Amino acid sequence: MSEIHKFLFDGLPVRGVLVRLTDAWQTILQRRANNESLGAYPQPVAELLGELTAAAVLMQSNIKFNGSLELQISGNAGSGPVKLAVAEVQSNLSLRATASIVGEVPDGSRLSALINQNQQGRCAVTLDPKDKLPGQQAYQGVVPLFDDEGKPLEHISSVLEHYMLQSEQLDTTLVLAANDTVAAGMLLQRLPVQGDGNLAGSMVSKANEDAIGNNEDYNRLSLFAKSLKPEELLNLSANEILHRLFWEESIIRYPANTPHAPQFACTCSRERVGRMLFNLGQEEIASILSERPNIEVGCEFCGNQERFDPIDAAQLFLPPVGDLSGGVH
Ligand SMILES: [Zn+2]
Repeated sequence: MSEIHKFLFDGLPVRGVLVRLTDAWQTILQRRANNESLGAYPQPVAELLGELTAAAVLMQSNIKFNGSLELQISGNAGSGPVKLAVAEVQSNLSLRATASIVGEVPDGSRLSALINQNQQGRCAVTLDPKDKLPGQQAYQGVVPLFDDEGKPLEHISSVLEHYMLQSEQLDTTLVLAANDTVAAGMLLQRLPVQGDGNLAGSMVSKANEDAIGNNEDYNRLSLFAKSLKPEELLNLSANEILHRLFWEESIIRYPANTPHAPQFACTCSRERVGRMLFNLGQEEIASILSERPNIEVGCEFCGNQERFDPIDAAQLFLPPVGDLSGGVH
């Protein structure tokens, strides 16, 4: 089963999260492999998407937010064989992910070869609140796939660390790895100081944190986390990983999977597809149906196919019962 573990370092302003996606990740890969027209992800794309998915779970579990968190890496025509990789995680840690491939993926390709050959690749982080107030928009932050010196980054972890530092002003360490059965990751974060509920009442502030050694503590723990090898992250249990890295530290652990365990779930629905078709307009739908017997729309996340025959399509444009203003709402 997929699992998530949160922990704190006793007396230090550092917190951590460890995630291991097993069944949820295997479901994503299996559904893709079952899609005859698309086929299984090439290994480098599976690794990219797995790391992105693990990172999305870590980031969602690390914020107090009711809504979806989406990580999206995208390129343009000259960026490479991956057009788009998306991982979306809800507040209850239900998750889905997909990637679109437009070209040949050579073995061993890393981030820059996959989607940043022309330095135009980018990573967007979108927080979409569940119950939006009127006029409220999703929040989106975007970072490039290169560092401050313009050197292409080869790891999603570096891209997202950069994002966290820019947008949240928080030192964050991410270690990510994925193969064809496990997508896993660890996040360490220096707790925000002053004004945030996490350390209410603490004497720690930006001004004195160096003096009291908090940077030193964080840097030490971050180095330990970075020493974790991908095969250790993928193959060891959470207990083994935490013990191996932090055996000299005093760790306070929360019960695993509270309040939620990560799990695969797709938010697509026939109703939503119907709404999308409705938005295309009656004329467009009629034109599509003049060339084929049905309209079939497949969900790229879960592979679910929704079929609308001419009668289903016509019903989209009927006013709902008791409402003569027309249309689907
Ligand atoms: Zn779906």
